[in-house]
Amino acid sequence: MRYISTRGQSAPQAFCDILLGGLAPDGGLYLPESYPQVSRADLDAWRQLSYADLAYEILSKFITDIPADDLKAIVAKTYTADVYRFTRNGGNASQITPLTKLDDGLYTQELSNGPTLAFKDMAMQLLGNLFEYVLDKRGESINILGATSGDTGSAAEYAMRGKHNVKVFMLSPDGKMSAFQRAQMYSLTDANIFNIAVRGMFDDAQDIVKAVSNDAAFKKQYKIGAVNSINWARVAAQIVYYFQGYFLATQTNDEQVSFCVPSGNFGNICAGHIARMMGLPIKQLVLATNENDVLDEFFRTGIYRPRTSAETSVTSSPSMDISKASNFERFVFDLVGRDPVVIRDLWSKVDQGKAFDLSTTVYWKDLPKFGFVSGRSSHTDRINTIRFAQGRYQVMLDTHTADGLKVALEKRQPGVPMIVLETAQPAKFEETIREALGAEPVRPAELAGIENLEQHVVVMDPDVEAIKRFVVERV
Ligand SMILES: *Cc1c(COP(=O)(O)O)cnc(C)c1O
Repeated sequence: MRYISTRGQSAPQAFCDILLGGLAPDGGLYLPESYPQVSRADLDAWRQLSYADLAYEILSKFITDIPADDLKAIVAKTYTADVYRFTRNGGNASQITPLTKLDDGLYTQELSNGPTLAFKDMAMQLLGNLFEYVLDKRGESINILGATSGDTGSAAEYAMRGKHNVKVFMLSPDGKMSAFQRAQMYSLTDANIFNIAVRGMFDDAQDIVKAVSNDAAFKKQYKIGAVNSINWARVAAQIVYYFQGYFLATQTNDEQVSFCVPSGNFGNICAGHIARMMGLPIKQLVLATNENDVLDEFFRTGIYRPRTSAETSVTSSPSMDISKASNFERFVFDLVGRDPVVIRDLWSKVDQGKAFDLSTTVYWKDLPKFGFVSGRSSHTDRINTIRFAQGRYQVMLDTHTADGLKVALEKRQPGVPMIVLETAQPAKFEETIREALGAEPVRPAELAGIENLEQHVVVMDPDVEAIKRFVVERV
């Protein structure tokens, strides 16, 4: 399997060659040159498999440059009931992503049972093990520099902690994350993890990462890498739980299901799109946004209008607060018949912050073939949905999953099971749970009092040179 760029001007690459990088050299995103097709016989055989064995079957179609036994071992040590142990609602940890039944034909799928209680662990834990394997084989090392407003940074740190040849420098906005999120990141004591709290907002932290990454000489000399949401391996890892959810919600492979996906950067639902392109019987992919509705607007109107940071609101489902969706180019590539010339034209606008409109093009009539529908949710909807789920189903939802359930209930079709992907646990968003329910969210016993642990973080000004010096002194 080789990987091509959505912009068509980079040479095809093998999986391990794009694993450690980000964008293709031409500015595009990597995708498999074609999607492996899953037959009815495959589905019949896979229905019985454990999550790790299923993950091996699926990932081995995309990763053909790691020997089978090695890939099997990497996957087996990643997807264990011990790593994904924080199940709730009676979920069976050995299923890794168990379903919670809300009602007949209505489920949530728990993707947030990993170490940081959010779905980013599903892919990031695999990425940590893949990085370690490939770096060891090549005798190389990497220094990951990232900026986080919460979930991504902690998932990256928990995936990379203690790994050989990997150091993580994670910038976060000083005092802007919740006490729980700060405790999760800053309480780590591993020697390869460095937390830097930047005086300023998330955007200031992000700008520093961009400035460092734009310094090609520095980047090369100090082996600076990233683990952002466009990383192909993250998308690939996420394909697996769509198959698992399908098997758990159906009896036979004749049935169809729909998934509802609380979305921000389009990474999660992009994996669902690929599962469907592979032949998994998915009826609808329901995309749910919060107030930052750039993607809902596209699926309703055909207009994709990236927002400025001033137009992006800070909401109570913060991991979906995006101004543009970094993985969206992957889907549009398929929608326009995989024509890189069209993508270059569309993204010449996006890259300058301008909108494009597909509704007036020949491609728009093909949209229904891809099964996408969308909706949006507001703070009031979120609070009402958290109350509704608690009252009606006795299930406590986090704020992002509540956005998903709100939209799923609007789009549900008779006779088609709907699976809402649960992207985080309510324990991460105490303040909003208190507002909705007047009660504290349930938190895994093991994480009780995490805020009282000693914290390891340096506070710095948003000064690119100072942060470069900090990195240089530690690599
Ligand atoms: C990252 C995140 C999302 C959005 O996922 P995308 O892949 O960016 O669309 C939704 N919910 C939670 C809790 C997240 O951490």
